Amino acid sequence: MSSVRIPKVTAKCYCNSVVIEISEIDPGFTACHCSTCQFVHSGPGFGARCNDVKIVQGAELVKKYKPAVWATWHFCGKCGTRLHYKFEDEVWKSKQDRYVVSVGLLYKSGVKNLKMFNEVSYEVKPHYYCFEGQREKLSTSEAYALFALESQKP
Ligand SMILES: [Zn+2]
Ligand SMILES: [Zn+2]
Repeated sequence: MSSVRIPKVTAKCYCNSVVIEISEIDPGFTACHCSTCQFVHSGPGFGARCNDVKIVQGAELVKKYKPAVWATWHFCGKCGTRLHYKFEDEVWKSKQDRYVVSVGLLYKSGVKNLKMFNEVSYEVKPHYYCFEGQREKLSTSEAYALFALESQKP
């Protein structure tokens, strides 16, 4: 979406039980201020799009949760680290960006060129924080419109 893709990163959850291999990562990530993110992360969600995620260790520990019809969250059932979410196949037709990985995992795994590319659901952002710098800020409906376009890309 924004810059040169990172070909492959191997990342571990906080307790080292789950190891995932992440492919074709966009280092320009999205900060989401929506009410679900505030609830489950106790703050905004930082997600980097990528083309594939493979669980290479600890698959039996990975728990899934489906907060909405369009995506499923994956997290470590032992330490609770959020790993990634995957858009459902019937919603996301494109081969690009079907997965969104937690930015903290990438940072901890040595990826340093991460950059906050845009902010979404800005109209519901709590008043007690804001980020420095200039970037595109999208409302929830603008973000949905963008996802609707990108999900159908060949
Ligand atoms: Zn863990
Ligand atoms: Zn959100």
